[in-house]
Amino acid sequence: MSSRTLSLGGLALAFAVLVVADDAAAFCRMTTEGGAQVGDAACIEAGAPLEWRNPCLSYAIDDRGSQWMTDEDVEEAVDLAFKAWEDANCDGSPPNLVFKPLQPSTCKRAEYNCEGNVNTIAFLDPWKDECSDPENPGYDRNAFAVTIVWHDTRTGEILDADMMINDQRASRGTAGGPYAICPLTGCTGDFEGYADLGSIVTHEAGHFIGIGHCNPIDEADPNDPCVQATMFAMAERESVNKRTLAPDDIAAVCTIYPPGDLDQSCNAAPIGGLQLNCETDADGKAIPCSDTTCGTSSGGGCSATGSPADAPWGPLLAALVGLSVWRRRNAARS
Ligand SMILES: [Zn+2]
Repeated sequence: MSSRTLSLGGLALAFAVLVVADDAAAFCRMTTEGGAQVGDAACIEAGAPLEWRNPCLSYAIDDRGSQWMTDEDVEEAVDLAFKAWEDANCDGSPPNLVFKPLQPSTCKRAEYNCEGNVNTIAFLDPWKDECSDPENPGYDRNAFAVTIVWHDTRTGEILDADMMINDQRASRGTAGGPYAICPLTGCTGDFEGYADLGSIVTHEAGHFIGIGHCNPIDEADPNDPCVQATMFAMAERESVNKRTLAPDDIAAVCTIYPPGDLDQSCNAAPIGGLQLNCETDADGKAIPCSDTTCGTSSGGGCSATGSPADAPWGPLLAALVGLSVWRRRNAARS
């Protein structure tokens, strides 16, 4: 990848030619060969599956928060989203997975550094990475959020995950805010027009731990195990259903992180150490987008703005697309 040319459209196209997994479960794992199914593309499981080697994990919400919600509400929605996965019931035991919320980050950049990282959760308006090229159109306008999963491209070990949420106001045909913690009955009545942040983040937290989009047998069937799952690639704007894991989601997390001996005393420091601020250094000086904390060449390096061609790591993007948008797209196609 030459520069920041990450494009969901390109990924969707790449997946369209690949084959359906042959097992009965609907869930899919992200893999080094792709696997973060986008749109209606089929599930593939070629290559090494993405997985945290030490599933004692931390995350930090960017201190600028969302324009749509108080910091307290954002924190509540995000914490519950990770907890849904942590508390999954694997035949009576939780998966071997611990999530620790940290103090706020100052990091709206999706990047993996050799020295100092943070799994940041940031709200972006405009809906693009501040370090992307000026001519880059940014993330998919139909996506509520994307999670960028940095991983070892040989082994599939996840190194860092950054969750970016589309904080723009939704318009006809695009996803985005306003967001709220909607009642269990959905974002209707007083919450008309809102999208449920918890549903979105619970889906993205699945990507955070390496789960791809599930494979529906019949995407038009509301009882399809995948259509009901948090990891179904589409979301109805008014729905809160993704906050609650479906059996297929539970099967995924229990398969990838079967019950083990991790507990809250584990060490959740990111690889390379914790660096909550990726934008300014200890002296308050701005860190240029092109900066890198490893390697010897100037520019390039470890950040998303330019992984060197021979780097043994790379990003994989997975998004949550608004369903009404997706339906219109399909209607236009057929
Ligand atoms: Zn997704």
